Amino acid sequence: MSEVTKKSSVERYKLKKLVLELSKKSGRGTELVSLYIPPGKPIHEVINSLRDEWGTASNIKSDTTRTHVQDALVKTMQRLKLYKKIPENGLAIFCGALPTNGPGSEIIFLYEVVPIRPIQNYLYRCDDHFHVEILQDMLKEEVTIGLLTIDTSEAGLGLLSGDRIEISEVLTSGISGKHRSGGQSARRFERLREAEVNDFFHRIARHAAKIFLEENKISKLIISGPGPTKEDFLKGEYLHYQLKAKVVAVIDTSYAGEEGIRETVMKSEKILEDIRMVEEIKLVQHFLREVSKEDGLAAYGIELVENSLKQGNADTVIIVEDLNLIRLKVKCKFCKNETVNYITLDEYIKRKQEILSTACINCQKLDYELEEEDYINYIAEQADLVGSKVEVISSKTEAGLMLKNFGGIGVLLRYKVRGK
Ligand SMILES: [Zn+2]
Repeated sequence: MSEVTKKSSVERYKLKKLVLELSKKSGRGTELVSLYIPPGKPIHEVINSLRDEWGTASNIKSDTTRTHVQDALVKTMQRLKLYKKIPENGLAIFCGALPTNGPGSEIIFLYEVVPIRPIQNYLYRCDDHFHVEILQDMLKEEVTIGLLTIDTSEAGLGLLSGDRIEISEVLTSGISGKHRSGGQSARRFERLREAEVNDFFHRIARHAAKIFLEENKISKLIISGPGPTKEDFLKGEYLHYQLKAKVVAVIDTSYAGEEGIRETVMKSEKILEDIRMVEEIKLVQHFLREVSKEDGLAAYGIELVENSLKQGNADTVIIVEDLNLIRLKVKCKFCKNETVNYITLDEYIKRKQEILSTACINCQKLDYELEEEDYINYIAEQADLVGSKVEVISSKTEAGLMLKNFGGIGVLLRYKVRGK
């Protein structure tokens, strides 16, 4: 499995979750600030521009809206001052007054995100909702796939990211058809043709390296075309070894060139889905094999997974994306006694009320501090600290369903703990 998918399944999950949360929020008025800052933008420039916005906001008629906008801007500027420079992928901030318990209960919330792909343009918006479209697009365009479609007369090079197809280049070989012209001997004709095909393959490979390695960073490559030409091309020493390693599928199409690329895209959606599914199934099968052994290198369930992380023994944690579990830490304000609760989203409200209305088992008082976190986020952070990997897998696939039989969370271990 490539490093790209390993890293991104958690990042994707987090971003997806945040985008969903933010898209549900709405302000009382036009008072929610969305800010996208591209990498390399000097922070003082951003702060100056926000200061101008703060000044402009003093013209807002409604007292509440004016105060809310200006408070959000102040909070955003304060947060920016904590940065020495904008992170590598840029920074997105969403800030505004959100109700905590009906109208009038608003307090200023701030969300900051370092996105999974670089932010291209600076954007400031103040609206009655947060502008999350740019983050949403990133989820779609997370990977760029190279498409190369070949026959002996034509080759097409294209890029697929999200729903966008870009035809980068179409090369023609100028090689004449299979019929030789009069007077040429059959052998001579064959040799000439081979040499021409060889040249054409080298030319294709040079363009592929330029487009797929230098100008773009593709994560996967799909080769297509009619007949056996594509296989000949792959078998020979033409394609850059880094590109060869990225080939995930070789598929038959009726055409090469531009038409061939469109045909490949139509067929590839399913293929790419299958690739990730196969990766997930392999991972879960590996897990199942280990779990079924007496001395297997796998464990499951929250407690054992957390232990393996604490002991530095977790190689890869595998979680289904719809685990929907919240980790709620409850701390007594008097005696500091702490309990950790795991609550499913369905029973969240009910269970939280139960916990809050039950006296502290240690001092019998009833005043708590709460800290809650999405469980997959929590595990991803813990894993990061000790250098373990986390794979969030889709829940509706065969792999996801198998893992659900084990509570939806498992771990591949580095070594066996004796006497477990
Ligand atoms: Zn207590």
